Amino acid sequence: MTLRVKPTPAHIAQAATRLREGHLVAFPTETVYGLGADATNDTAVAHIFKAKGRPHFNPLIVHVSDAEKANEVSMIDAISQVLIEKFWPGPLTLVLPRRDEAPLSLLVSAGLDSVAVRQPAHAVAHALLREAGRPIAAPSANRSGRLSPTTADHVAESLGEDVSMILDGGPCARGLESTIVQVSDKQAALLRPGALTREEIEAVLGQRLALGPQGSAPTAPGQLASHYAPSHALRLNAHYIDADEALLAFGQPLRGKSCGLLNLSPRGDLWEAAAHLFSHLRTLDQAPCARIAVMPIPHHGLGEAINDRLARAAAPRG
Ligand code: AMP
Ligand code: MG
Repeated sequence: MTLRVKPTPAHIAQAATRLREGHLVAFPTETVYGLGADATNDTAVAHIFKAKGRPHFNPLIVHVSDAEKANEVSMIDAISQVLIEKFWPGPLTLVLPRRDEAPLSLLVSAGLDSVAVRQPAHAVAHALLREAGRPIAAPSANRSGRLSPTTADHVAESLGEDVSMILDGGPCARGLESTIVQVSDKQAALLRPGALTREEIEAVLGQRLALGPQGSAPTAPGQLASHYAPSHALRLNAHYIDADEALLAFGQPLRGKSCGLLNLSPRGDLWEAAAHLFSHLRTLDQAPCARIAVMPIPHHGLGEAINDRLARAAAPRG
C-alpha cells in the first residue's frame, strides 16, 4: 500500500527512513514532484527505472541539501560557483564533472563521467534531504514519456503502488522542470530549457549559453523528441479552433466552438502559464475530444521552456 501523507515533521522523518532503507518516496519540489531514491544505493536507484518504466538507464538528477554536499560528489569550478551562489536553492540543475570518489551509485550518471546536481527550493524537499542525510536521485514522478506531475494526485495516478510513500505538499509553484546547464572546460551549455530562464543565467554569466550538449551527450529522456506526452494528439500554434478539439488557450481565447477549454494564463503571464501547463494538459486529456489545440506562446523568457515541452508533447510517438 502506498502511504500518502501531509509532510509533517514526523512524516518527513518516516520518509527519510524509507529512503535510507532503499524504498522510493515521491516528494514535492518547486518544479515538479520527484520520485526519490537513495542516490548512494544501486538497487534503490535501479528501482526508479523500473517504477517509471524507463527503457534505458538514463542519467538522473541528484538532489542535495546544499552546495557543500554537491561539492562532495562533483567538481565546482568558478563558473559553477557563480551560478550556485546566484541561483541555489532553485530550479537550476548543473551537470558537472563527477568526483572519482563520489559515494554515488554509478547508475545516476549512466556511465558518464559527469553528474547532474541541484538544490531544490522547497521546504519539504529540503527537510527530507537533511533528514535522509544523503543525496537523493529523483526524476519526475511519472511513467516514462508522460506528463510530469505537479500534484500528489498526478503522482498517485501515474505510479500507483510502485511508490512506497507520497509526501503531499500541494501543487508545485513552478510546474516546469529545472533548467539544465552543463559546465565543463570553463564553458556553460544549455542542455534543457526549464523553470529558470536563459536570460537570467546569461545576465549573471555575462555571456551567451552555448547551445545543446557539448561533445558526447547521453540520449536522455528530456532530450528525446517525444516526451511529456498526453494521450491526445496536440496541434500547436493554433489560430482557429475546430468543434471536436479542446482548446488550451493563452491570453484571450480563440473564438469558436470547442469541446473543452482551459486557459494557461488569461492575462498572458508566462510564469502563470508554466505553473498550469502540465495540469491543464492532463485535464484536457480526459475530455472526449479529437485533439488538443494549443494557442501560440511567446518564445521569450519562460516561453522557451514551455514551447520546448509542447513541441515534445506534440512530436510523433516512437
Ligand atoms: P528528469 O528525468 O525529468 O529528471 O530529467 C533528467 C535530465 O537530466 C535528463 O533528461 C538529462 O538530460 C539530464 N541529465 C542528468 N544527468 C546528466 C548527465 N550526467 N549528463 C547530461 N545530462 C544529464
Ligand atoms: Mg521527467
